[in-house]
Amino acid sequence: MTAVPTASSEALLDFDRAHLWHPYTSMTDPAPTRLVTGAAGVRLTLVDGTEVVDAMSSWWAAIHGYNHPALNAALAAQAADFAHVMFGGLTHEPAIRLAQRLVDLAPAGLEHVFLADSGSVSVEVALKMVLQYQRGVGHPERTRMLTVRGGYHGDTFGCMSVCDPVGGMHSMFADVLPEQVFAPRPPAAEDGVAAWAEAFEAVAAAHAHELAGIIVEPLLQGAGGMHVYPAACLAVMREVADRHGLVLVLDEIATGFGRTGTFFAAEAAGVTPDVMCLGKALTGGYLTLAAVLCTPRIAVGLSHSESGVLMHGPTYMGNPLACAVALAGLDLLADGAWKADVGRIHAALTAGLAPVRHLPGVVDVRTLGAVGVVQLDHPVDVAKATEVAIENGVWLRPFRDLIYTMPPYVSTDEDLARICTAIGAAAGVA
Ligand SMILES: *Cc1c(COP(=O)(O)O)cnc(C)c1O
Repeated sequence: MTAVPTASSEALLDFDRAHLWHPYTSMTDPAPTRLVTGAAGVRLTLVDGTEVVDAMSSWWAAIHGYNHPALNAALAAQAADFAHVMFGGLTHEPAIRLAQRLVDLAPAGLEHVFLADSGSVSVEVALKMVLQYQRGVGHPERTRMLTVRGGYHGDTFGCMSVCDPVGGMHSMFADVLPEQVFAPRPPAAEDGVAAWAEAFEAVAAAHAHELAGIIVEPLLQGAGGMHVYPAACLAVMREVADRHGLVLVLDEIATGFGRTGTFFAAEAAGVTPDVMCLGKALTGGYLTLAAVLCTPRIAVGLSHSESGVLMHGPTYMGNPLACAVALAGLDLLADGAWKADVGRIHAALTAGLAPVRHLPGVVDVRTLGAVGVVQLDHPVDVAKATEVAIENGVWLRPFRDLIYTMPPYVSTDEDLARICTAIGAAAGVA
């Protein structure tokens, strides 16, 4: 079903251009936007009636597809009960059941749950947990985070400070960002692990006295450059954290819920973090919700800091609508069929993108789970690439030198073939 806009699409787009910011865009020289009037399954409908397969899953969130009957029903049922109540002093079944479910699903030991309202906020909360923990255990001098180059953890200030210092926004905000400690980016292949581990350990040892914790994205560095690295690096990080008394935070906001082939990416290394951030696919792309899980050691430790409490509490904390949709989404994952889907998508992307490797200007093609990445030797002409992808019936959102896909798990083999063709066509012109 497609909604007909109540105003002319030209009038709507004119207002959009003049007044509405889109992600990372200019108000004085706005990038083109397209008007969506409907979304069902893996397809978006544009105002001119064009249907495109969403190869981005709405920034990696809509894993079950759009307009899903079970998610719609969960949302409607909760809305009929109550849409929201404050979480201060009040609680409700959707939040309690979601927390139970997340604790069940998470690696053993992660037992305490903070429900935040976006991925970035969950990273801020995780950073606070780390700092408060160190104060609680008598190390107020341990205030810095160790991370690796090439990371992305969100757009708020604490998050920005642990994003890649070159690719991120450090140059612009250098004077106001906390200064964190950066180790080299993990290697792409196993044969680089030993040398990288040595460098990582050396950076940690040199700064151990002032370090509070480590934060990284496990296996896949997403918005920092779609870089895939061996699971063995995670075991190194766990070992280094333990040796130096650091809290290990894994940001699974992009990787959680099966995207890389295991339910959580860290499972591939058998590593359990002390703190874990979840978001994006948590609500299947319906509503903004994130979660921070931590171990009893962290929860008890931070309770010994001077405030005695975790100092965070957003207005929409534990939003019941979001929790209800998240539960319905987790129900859809409960039978484990996602694993076969992710395997099937992996095979289709690996085969379908192989010929793209031979195109001029393409320097790398890589896949991990339900992620397919084509890297060019130059920045992508996003407008051109988008245009060509739409002509091929696919929605793509390339960035920097990367054209990539993270399709919904419900994509059919036909959808996936179409996505690979569109990526090839976009790589050919961009
Ligand atoms: C998207 C993302 C975030 C930020 O989440 P928002 O919901 O956009 O604030 C943080 N970390 C990682 C790894 C992400 O992919």
